[in-house]
Amino acid sequence: QAKEAGRNTCHFFSPELNMRATERLLLENTMRRALEREEFFLAYQPQMELNSGHVAGIEALIRWRHPDLGIVPPNNFIPIAEETGLIVPLGEWVLAEACRQGVRWQQEGHPPIRIAVNVSARQFRQKNLGTRIEKILEETGFNPEFLELELTESAVMENPEEAILTLRQLKKMGITLSIDDFGTGYSSLSHLKHFPIDRLKIDRSFVKHVTRDHNDATIAEAIIALAHSMNLTVVAEGIEHSEQMEFMHQRSCDTMQGYYLSRPVTADEFGSFLKRLGESDGKAHGLLGG
Ligand code: C2E
Ligand code: MG
Ligand code: MG
Ligand code: MG
Repeated sequence: QAKEAGRNTCHFFSPELNMRATERLLLENTMRRALEREEFFLAYQPQMELNSGHVAGIEALIRWRHPDLGIVPPNNFIPIAEETGLIVPLGEWVLAEACRQGVRWQQEGHPPIRIAVNVSARQFRQKNLGTRIEKILEETGFNPEFLELELTESAVMENPEEAILTLRQLKKMGITLSIDDFGTGYSSLSHLKHFPIDRLKIDRSFVKHVTRDHNDATIAEAIIALAHSMNLTVVAEGIEHSEQMEFMHQRSCDTMQGYYLSRPVTADEFGSFLKRLGESDGKAHGLLGG
């Protein structure tokens, strides 16, 4: 028995690990079926340009409408989807759905809006990523100029030489490229400056106490300065209060995203927001409310 064999034994067959593996398999199968049954949907969170007050883009965020559990947030299933590889078909579904929705909004007569889609590390490592994305864009008829892909630092730093080729290919297609949760991972600045990226998103852990914590303020300012010195725009995530928005605006941060502007909303809710936006001066203020 593994237990009796002592401390240097590999515990592959310990009941705990068995349980975990079984659970994982169960979850993987449940998720695979959920994808077939169309239990996933996208929520959309707007971003606002701090100088103009215009809503120039939105981020698509996946949700799982589980028949028994209700709405399951992505942090509860994306890591497992990553581990099992299910993230590849799931990620393609997200991209296709975001593109289809973008086309739908335009068919309803709204001006085109940039839609950001999260791409996981495993997805980014796919050999034919560019071709797969190109195919989805073609099939949905969505203009790549309005597609943004959010990558994490770890995804692009894992193999920088390989990453730069993929990024160049995506950039050539007209896609906007962002580094998500910036500051939480490990980035080599010498690599970063060679990446054809467009924006950095300051992780919300630095934004949370930015008006009270001197260190967080310094980090946020440093990220803004770094981004601008590389000709990148910068987005602050997780803005929940006007004070945080003011801080970012005063430090020339370009864009904000967070509950203070709007929580992630359904496609229909965002559609009616676009309608009201069209009837006003195109500015977000007062139309969205936390
Ligand atoms: P993320 O890409 O950094 O997305 C931002 C997360 O912060 C979202 O959580 C959003 O709802 C939340 N958020 C936005 N504003 C605020 C705020 O003011 N305060 C607070 N406390 N939170 C705010 P969500 O939707 O639960 O997503 C969590 C993470 O799951 C995402 O973080 C992303 O890493 C991942 N994710 C979501 N959708 C996808 C997807 O389609 N594909 C992949 N690969 N990952 C996804
Ligand atoms: Mg994101
Ligand atoms: Mg983020
Ligand atoms: Mg995050």
